[in-house]
Amino acid sequence: MSLHLNKVIIFSAPSGSGKTTVVNHLLSIMPELGFSVSATTRKPRPHEEHGREYYFLDQNDFEAKVSNGEFLEHEEVYNGIFYGTLNSEVERLWLLGKTVIFDVDVAGGLRIKQKYGENALAIFLRPPSLDILMERLRKRSTEVEHQLQMRIDKANFELQFADQYDLVLINDVLEETLAKAESIVRDFIAK
Ligand code: ADP
Ligand code: 5GP
Repeated sequence: MSLHLNKVIIFSAPSGSGKTTVVNHLLSIMPELGFSVSATTRKPRPHEEHGREYYFLDQNDFEAKVSNGEFLEHEEVYNGIFYGTLNSEVERLWLLGKTVIFDVDVAGGLRIKQKYGENALAIFLRPPSLDILMERLRKRSTEVEHQLQMRIDKANFELQFADQYDLVLINDVLEETLAKAESIVRDFIAK
């Protein structure tokens, strides 16, 4: 039985801080990690695939899963847009012997940390500043302007919770962030 069974790693941060970039990098170099694919009611972006980035559900299907108790945590992350972690995802990945890695918002991350305690490493990825965050979100060009403002407003709120995380990692120079994230995750898995 592998040593890392039942461990989970949570990456949370305001949208645009670099979670997807960091998590995808770790997944590409560490086969022992398995990505927890969340469910969401948001529409897929170009190149996103059902079952890979997210399980894209309509509102009714999402609500049915909430009623059936299928979510480990779920949240209306933005006005009218729901996201949630399915219990079945964690079970699926543990059965494969993987350490589960989550990319979730700040409230969801704290809930998952509360559930798994010492078996969870909760990392808060922080942008160097809100101006830089805005710039990165604009460059990513995945949101229209009013959604951008919604994400910045939420970022302001979420930054208050950074100190409740096990670790805060500032994503300034990307290569340095990736190297630090790898070393932190490897140390945790080896513990
Ligand atoms: P999140 O998943 O937290 O919303 P992303 O990983 O999508 O964030 O990153 C937001 C944007 O910022 C992307 O276009 C990404 O390529 C870019 N980015 C991420 N980290 C850095 C960095 N350290 N320096 C410059 N741009 C970055
Ligand atoms: P995006 O729409 O940019 O993919 O994600 C928006 C936000 O939703 C990000 O902060 C992301 O981490 C968060 N998110 C994604 N999946 C989940 C989830 O399962 N639960 C929670 N609470 N947040 C999630």
